[in-house]
Amino acid sequence: MGTARVGVLALQGAFAAHAEVLSRLGADVREVRVPADLDKVGALVMPGGESTTMSQLLESSGLFDALGDRLVHGFPVFGTCAGMILLARSVIGGRPDQRSFGAIDISVERNAYGRQVDSFEAELDVAGLNDPFPAVFIRAPRICDLGPAVETLALHEGSPVLVRQGAIIAASFHPELTGDGRLHALFLESL
Ligand code: GLN
Repeated sequence: MGTARVGVLALQGAFAAHAEVLSRLGADVREVRVPADLDKVGALVMPGGESTTMSQLLESSGLFDALGDRLVHGFPVFGTCAGMILLARSVIGGRPDQRSFGAIDISVERNAYGRQVDSFEAELDVAGLNDPFPAVFIRAPRICDLGPAVETLALHEGSPVLVRQGAIIAASFHPELTGDGRLHALFLESL
């Protein structure tokens, strides 16, 4: 890791906080807004925000196809909250025109943990971490189904909330808001 050049999808949502955590960990961080930006990075973080809006902006920027091509070839992505929705195989409660990459074999239900006012923080036991990780859930998606290739790294009340398949890591929650960089470090170490 150290000098890994990592992109942060910067179309909408909580991308700045991710960039800050990654920079603090020593990564060379680039904002990704157009397909040419992807050529400069070896991995990508897809932030939380609004997956319907991000889906539209991915299409209009040309990034949907450019990123989709890379994902087929094992491009490493860490998707959080809306980012996880965009990586999923199927989305329950999405808008009809909303697209997802199908890069990880999970089915997710949008907003299944409630509305903005129902946001909460939980301490999660994460595989590979010695101490609990503080996770912030904001209108979070629930993983309702996962395929055999998907490894569960953390559960919340019996439901998987942090999962990995190949080079893809996906979290239902926001790991970038508490100043704890251990999940970003885990992602950088996997590169
Ligand atoms: N509910 C949002 C969506 O469907 C995700 C919320 C978040 O990223 N904090 O896109």
